[in-house]
Amino acid sequence: MYSAADDPRFFEALVHGYLANPRHNSIEPGSSEPAWDTPLVGFARGDDPVFVALREREPGRWTPLDAFRLAFPDTDATAADLAVAAWALPQTLATRQEARKRRELPGRRWALARHFGGEINEALRRHAVEMLRSEDMQACAPALLERGNADEAEDAAPGAVSAAGPGAPSRWSEREAAYASGLGTFGLCDALITPSGKAVRLGSIVARASWPTTPRPYKGRHDWCLFFALGKCSACARRCPAGAITDAGRDKSKCRAYVRDVTAPFVSTELLGFPVDACGLCQTAVPCEKSIPAALRPGRGV
Ligand code: SF4
Ligand code: SF4
Repeated sequence: MYSAADDPRFFEALVHGYLANPRHNSIEPGSSEPAWDTPLVGFARGDDPVFVALREREPGRWTPLDAFRLAFPDTDATAADLAVAAWALPQTLATRQEARKRRELPGRRWALARHFGGEINEALRRHAVEMLRSEDMQACAPALLERGNADEAEDAAPGAVSAAGPGAPSRWSEREAAYASGLGTFGLCDALITPSGKAVRLGSIVARASWPTTPRPYKGRHDWCLFFALGKCSACARRCPAGAITDAGRDKSKCRAYVRDVTAPFVSTELLGFPVDACGLCQTAVPCEKSIPAALRPGRGV
C-alpha cells in the first residue's frame, strides 16, 4: 500500500480507476461508448518555474499557491510544499475518426465529448479532491475554484469559449499545468501536444503533497510541434475553416467567433438540440492528432 501524499501511484490509480468505470466515462447518458481513452497523468512541484514565468508574462494568472490559498485561507503552506497533478483525457479513436472526415463543422461524437466529456472532467476534478481530502490531505481544483471562468474554457484552448464571456482570461491554466507536469508541449494552434496527441482534454488539482516531478522529455515549449521544430507542417492551419491559425499562431477572437456563430448553432439545430462550443477540427487529421509527430518523438535525435 502506498501513501497518498508521497507516492504518485495513489493519484494515478485514482484517475485511471475513475475513468475505467463505465458509469463515469460515458460519451452520453445511457451509452456504453466511452467519452475518453486511457488518461495520461503527470506531476509538477508547486514552485516550478513554469508557473512563475506564466505569472510574469500574464500577471492575472494564478500560481498553484494562489489557488491553494483561496481554498485554504489559513494555510501556512509555501509553494514548495505543494504539488500539481495534471491529466490529459484523449479523444477516442471513434471520435477522432469521425472528426477527421469533417471539413467545416464538428461531428456528433466531438460535440458529445465536448459537452458530456467536459462534465466528466469536472466530476473527475471533484472526485480527485474528495479522495485526497478523505486521505486527510489538503487539495483543491483551481478550475473549480474559478467557477464560471476557466472550468470549461480550459485556458481558451482551441474551440473553447469562456463561460465568463468571449475573451475572458482564465486565472488557472490547465495547459501550463500539464506542460509543467511533463504531459506535452504547445503546438502552432495553441493546443498541448501530448504523447497521446493533441486531441485531448486537460485537468489538474493542487495538493499539499510531496509527489515527485514527472521528468519533462522536452527542453522548450514547442518541441513537439513540427512547425516550430522543423519549420514545416501548418496542417492545423489548413484544417481551420475560420482561418484562425497562421504562422503567428491562433487568433483567439476568430476562433471564438466561428465557434459562437457557426458551430454552436449547428450543434444545437443539427446534432444535439442544445448549443455546445465544439469545433476542434484543428486537432484531427493532423500529424499530432494522436501522438507526438513521428519525426519529433524523443530518441529520434531531431
Ligand atoms: S479549427 Fe479553427 S475555429 Fe475550430 S477550434 Fe481550431 S482554431 Fe478554432
Ligand atoms: S498540425 Fe503541425 S503545425 Fe499544427 S500543431 Fe500539429 S505539428 Fe504543429
